[in-house]
Amino acid sequence: MPEYTHPFPRRATRQITLGDARVGFVKVGGDAPVSVQTMTAGYTHDIDACVREISKLAAAGADVVRVAVPEKKDTDALREILPQVKVPIVADVHFHFQRALEAVEAGVHKIRLNPGNINDRKQVIDVIQACKARKLPIRVGVNEGSIIERKDKQKRMKELGRVFSDNKHGHMLAIMIAKLEEYLEIFYEQDFYDIAISAKSMDAALTIDAYTAISERFDHPLHLGVTHAGPKETGCIRSIAALSALLTRGIGDTIRISYANDPVYEVQDGLELLYSLGLRQRVGVDLIACPTCGRIQVDLFTLIQDVRKALAEKVTLPMKVAVMGCIVNGPGEAEGADVAVFAGDRRGIIYVQGERVANVPEPEILDRLLKECLDFQDRVTRGEAKLGEKKVDIIPPDPIGDLGSGWEKVAAGNVEKVTPLTIRKS
Ligand code: SF4
Repeated sequence: MPEYTHPFPRRATRQITLGDARVGFVKVGGDAPVSVQTMTAGYTHDIDACVREISKLAAAGADVVRVAVPEKKDTDALREILPQVKVPIVADVHFHFQRALEAVEAGVHKIRLNPGNINDRKQVIDVIQACKARKLPIRVGVNEGSIIERKDKQKRMKELGRVFSDNKHGHMLAIMIAKLEEYLEIFYEQDFYDIAISAKSMDAALTIDAYTAISERFDHPLHLGVTHAGPKETGCIRSIAALSALLTRGIGDTIRISYANDPVYEVQDGLELLYSLGLRQRVGVDLIACPTCGRIQVDLFTLIQDVRKALAEKVTLPMKVAVMGCIVNGPGEAEGADVAVFAGDRRGIIYVQGERVANVPEPEILDRLLKECLDFQDRVTRGEAKLGEKKVDIIPPDPIGDLGSGWEKVAAGNVEKVTPLTIRKS
């Protein structure tokens, strides 16, 4: 994982480590960078498909991947899966403590337990001892949806509710904290402290309150997430709302964004969140693009998507690339971009670190922009250029001359009208 400096005062926690010499080690908590986790969507016992999915998620940037092990055939499959993957694997165990013991035996790197459905003291101790013997951490996840004491709500509220009486989620916070305290007491009695905690809810505000309350009471690293956040389109906002509020207050050591969609999106969006907050050093291009408006004279939506896909495949340096629809705000908004294009009347002018290098018709913008990005990447790699080092101030192109702005021509009465564009939305 690239080095970084945490931009916010960070809550002090213990640190846990998962992995092994073959897949590498990921540290969570303490001074470790915030990591990104996800979970496979397919069956673990479908070995080849599971290996493919884990490899795809690791390639997308997942630091840790979790798999479900509901049946013995799933923990059996782990023995074949683990040697084939190159990322630490967490076994997600619900209901059957035996699955945890089998997963530990298979060589998994971490166990996730839910106090709501594995709460037999002897069984929990067996799992703790098995993990202790192999130095494996355990995540204790008290998801709102699976806390069995919710049926005991009135009693719990009476006992603990006053602690959170000024909070609209007071009763649920009381239940979560009480459950955690009871459960973790078993771990402490066994002298086991390699613990991460999660307390997810589908309610972003409750998620913020729950992690805040937990961070004030426990010093274990926190695994952040909004559970069952929904489809990507809305789940994204729900997750980012909660996680941003926590991360910017220094709370959270590893994150999982969960969508009802391909988990690759969870990894991509989790990383983008950390990049945007400055919590991880960006890998690959930082793409700036204008939202378009009535000044647009090229099919910018398509261009932006084509540029995004091509750069994601070919550029590994964190260079800043700006794709701007016009010259009105473009130069100012693209300040600091290593490579920029300003579109005009079916043309684009391309700049590299402030120096104008090309003026091409619309069909050639994508290829020329890519060429300039790759050339720039080569120069940076050879030590002949530096990222983020603007050489000259961008001189906005002449809207009538260079870019042949149709609007300006219309205003000047030089042409009758500009042919309307067909914007393809992808
Ligand atoms: S850069 Fe130009 S086209 Fe894009 S939103 Fe700004 S003014 Fe509109």
